[in-house]
Parts: sequence; C-alpha cells; structure tokens
Amino acid sequence: MSIKDNLVSVQKNINEACARTGRDSSSVCLIAVSKTKPVSDLKEAYDAGCRDFGENKVQEIMDKYDKLPSDIRWHMIGHLQTNKVKYIIDKVYMIHSVDSIKLADVISKEAVKHNTTVKILIEVNVADEESKFGTGLSEAGLLYDHACDLPGIEVCGFMTVAPYTVDANTNRQYFVALRRLSVDIIKQKKDNGNGTQLSMGMTGDYEVAIEEGSTMVRVGTGIFGARNYI
Ligand SMILES: *Cc1c(COP(=O)(O)O)cnc(C)c1O
Repeated sequence: MSIKDNLVSVQKNINEACARTGRDSSSVCLIAVSKTKPVSDLKEAYDAGCRDFGENKVQEIMDKYDKLPSDIRWHMIGHLQTNKVKYIIDKVYMIHSVDSIKLADVISKEAVKHNTTVKILIEVNVADEESKFGTGLSEAGLLYDHACDLPGIEVCGFMTVAPYTVDANTNRQYFVALRRLSVDIIKQKKDNGNGTQLSMGMTGDYEVAIEEGSTMVRVGTGIFGARNYI
C-alpha cells in the first residue's frame, strides 16, 4: 500500500473510533511520525493532505525543515536535551516531551529570546517503565504548574508513550490514567483552560487511545511502513 492509501485507512480508523465513542473526528489530530524516513516520503504524505509531522531527533528536524513546505507543523516527540532546544525553538509547532523543570525553563528562556511562544505537553511515564522518559504520575502536577507560570510557553496538555504491546487493550488502563490525571490537574489550575490536549496512541493502539480521550495520535509505521534504521 502507498503512503496515501495508508493515510486514508488510518484516518478511516480514527473516524470509526470517534464514532464509537460519540466524538467528532475533527477532535483528533493525526500526526505522521516520519522519523528515519526520507524527505520524499514526507512529501508524499504532504501531498496527500498531511500537515502534522512528528520527529524524535533535533538533527532530523533541522535536516528536513528547509526541504519541505513551511505550512508543516513539526512536532518534537522524542527526548530533548536542554543544550539542543535552541536549534528547534523557532521551527517546532509543539514539543510533546517536556519531562523536567530544567527543560521547561530552557524552552521558556529560548522562546523569550526568539520572541516566540511554543506549545508544550508534559510527558508522563504512566506505566512507570524504566526504559521510558517522562515524569512520574505523582510529579506531573508540579511540573505542569511550574510550566504554566513560565513566559514563552503555552502548556497544552499531556503526552505518554504506552508500553509496547501486541494487544492494544492492555494499554487502555494507561490512557484512562492519563486522562484522569489531566482532568484532576486542570481542575486545580483555574486560570488555565489550555491543558486539554492528550497526545496518546501509536500505530498499535491509537484506536483504543481515541476511545479513552486522545486528541493527538502519533502514527509512524501505520503510515510509512517499517522504519529503516541505518
Ligand atoms: C516512533 C514514535 C511513535 C510512532 O510509533 P509507531 O509505532 O511506528 O506508530 C510515536 N511516538 C513516539 C514518541 C515515537 O518515538
């Protein structure tokens, strides 16, 4: 199947998952995760209507950025080192992987320096996996509150990378937990109405994530096929 065919079929699955739970399909943003893929593949997805692309490496965003149309929204979804924030601060639409106060502080400082505002999500390691980045469930509120008070940052919600699984239903509990956390935290933060985005769900489990309230799904393999690691 072509990239275009894959996009059509993923979008159809998204629409059906929304219909099952009485949601409007426009409430879910499909992010095409293009890491390791050549610019020609991204161009194909772009021509099929895709405008949101996800990358997990600073270098890859920098390499691809100038070679593709400027109306693309670049989503940084991978672990971000503080010393690299300055390279992408004026290129990314949203940083999904904010997992420490130090990183939030640096993003704020660089955004102010570049006279811009960057959308961020707080990454939460809901399943408490040792191999994963993200703040713990119990520390997420503190980080959220801290980031909300920083200039140059718009805190839009939460993100999680659920465990690898062959049965998507086993991840349902983590999506439910992140949505509950988000509701609890935002309730306490009366002056901020922006924290409603939930970036959760990947190729193996995005339909379950949507059933549990995801507003942004990050789909790589399901659109571009298996990754070519060099
Ligand atoms: C690679 C990646 C994805 C996409 O994974 P697929 O299983 O290929 O859909 C989503 N989120 C993050 C953070 C990733 O690194």
